[in-house]
Amino acid sequence: MANQHPDVRHLIVVFGDQLDPQATAFEDFDPDRDAVWMGEAEEESTHVWSHKQRIALFLAAMRHFRERLRQDGIRVFYRELDQSPNATSLFDQLDACLRETLPEKVIATQPGEWRVLDNLKTCCRKRKIPCEIREDRYFLVTLDEFRAHAKGRKSLRMEFFYREARRKHNVLMNRDGTPAGGQWNYDADNRETFGRHGPESVPSFDGFKPDKLTRAVLDLVNKRFADHPGSLESFAWPVTPEEAKLALDDFVENRLASFGRFQDAMWTGEPWLYHSRLSTALNLKLLDPRDVTKAAEEAWSKKRVPLASAEGFIRQILGWREYVRGIYWLNMPGYENRNELGANGKLPGFYWTGETEWTCLRETIGQTLRHGYAHHIQRLMVTGLFGLLAGIDPSEVHRWYLAVYVDAVEWVELPNTLGMSQYADGGLMASKPYAATGKYIQRMSNYCGNCPKNPANATGEDACPFTTLYWDFLDRHRKTLEQNPRMKLQVRNLDRRSHKDLAVIRKQARDLRQRLTIAE
Ligand code: FAD
Ligand code: SF4
Repeated sequence: MANQHPDVRHLIVVFGDQLDPQATAFEDFDPDRDAVWMGEAEEESTHVWSHKQRIALFLAAMRHFRERLRQDGIRVFYRELDQSPNATSLFDQLDACLRETLPEKVIATQPGEWRVLDNLKTCCRKRKIPCEIREDRYFLVTLDEFRAHAKGRKSLRMEFFYREARRKHNVLMNRDGTPAGGQWNYDADNRETFGRHGPESVPSFDGFKPDKLTRAVLDLVNKRFADHPGSLESFAWPVTPEEAKLALDDFVENRLASFGRFQDAMWTGEPWLYHSRLSTALNLKLLDPRDVTKAAEEAWSKKRVPLASAEGFIRQILGWREYVRGIYWLNMPGYENRNELGANGKLPGFYWTGETEWTCLRETIGQTLRHGYAHHIQRLMVTGLFGLLAGIDPSEVHRWYLAVYVDAVEWVELPNTLGMSQYADGGLMASKPYAATGKYIQRMSNYCGNCPKNPANATGEDACPFTTLYWDFLDRHRKTLEQNPRMKLQVRNLDRRSHKDLAVIRKQARDLRQRLTIAE
């Protein structure tokens, strides 16, 4: 085909989670000679059965970004889904653009997902066009820094990584190099519950009313992805940097002060509580993590929020978020196939409907389908814990999480799901499996009060499935778990159970797993 755009020097490839005009790919950008390519592809919403809000969020934010670039006089090659009635893959679209434009070079900032990076390189190789992948400086810790941190360490732990990052970026530090308040970590202050009465008036935040551009996307998603999970009714996510900044300001002003104390607590009918809801804006790069940590630190230094809240929040951004990215890139490809506990069960159907009598799962999955959102402890200690204890294949669990959460992008979702919640990496991410009985959920929420099951019981009619499956999990994996010093106490408690008792638990657990179509 004749070159229809012979004047393209560099083609800057921007993926849907790279909506940052300051990205390294734009350094030395010359609007007279360079152009940007972005694509919408059905496959990106169907390779996992994506929640409608997740699809809509990406498309709406991408289209707003495209408009901004065009307003700045930048040429953008962009194909909307509406223009592609047939499913053309993202990289077929890119290939067509490369064929037409024949740029001297393709430039991209390091993509967030290994699959995307690999496809991009293959695509350029096929057309014999040089492809320059630039460092993603949006993150506070570079991948080389993470590799250097990991080198020679037998095991990686978030806490040590986090301390290094605090020192390097001088966040919550005293002048003499000690941590503010004398402690690195106020985790122990982050575990309060709401007691019997529940949270006191959580300041409401309605989010953002969809504008014309977003409304067009919502219509498109409703029509084209009608059979996908979830609903669009409550869609109010920030889709521009301006909205993301307002969301950050609102959080710092109204909810950060209580974030620390109630970080792990859950309550019926309260999907958001004191959480920031900033993961989508951060993951799409509408919000700079430096601005987020700075805003929290400033709120503390001006005495507007307690140190435990500011530190608890900053630990999530500068600690966990950067750490999981390092784990992802250190272990990809191949990490997605790990299954150290050999779990092979099928994901129960209620994960897609929320239809179950078990209140904690119904609440968590219900709000996930309504909003595409659940907070960390709901993801880890309700839906994740159930998958772990029931022995569900970690790749099925991973695909579910990647599909149903609006903030799901693989580099952050995969280590959290497969590593932290399913222990499928054998302890790379977490020093021990997050295994607990239903009593943990009882302590941290009011779910059990409205459930036909009793978290204290492992057997019998009213046995809590978490409690039954917990003992069965310890029993099935005793050999592996007893090697782990942090699991010694739990294994010792298992040993206190009589053979007879254990036999009844095993049978009840087996019946339960079979009933949920979980394979043995
Ligand atoms: P807040 O509770 O307000 O926390 C503040 C910010 O800290 C978040 O916005 C997020 O950017 C960051 N953060 C907190 N915990 C983590 C963590 N463990 N890893 C990385 N960043 C963290 N987060 C995603 O962004 N995308 C995912 O796909 C995702 N999948 C998860 C799957 C499982 C099984 C688990 C246990 C956690 C997952 N998380 C994921 C982490 C966390 O649950 C979400 O970041 C958080 O719930 C988002 O809500 P929020 O913005 O209100 O967070
Ligand atoms: Fe969940 Fe068990 Fe509590 Fe029911 S009793 S809400 S199943 S933890």
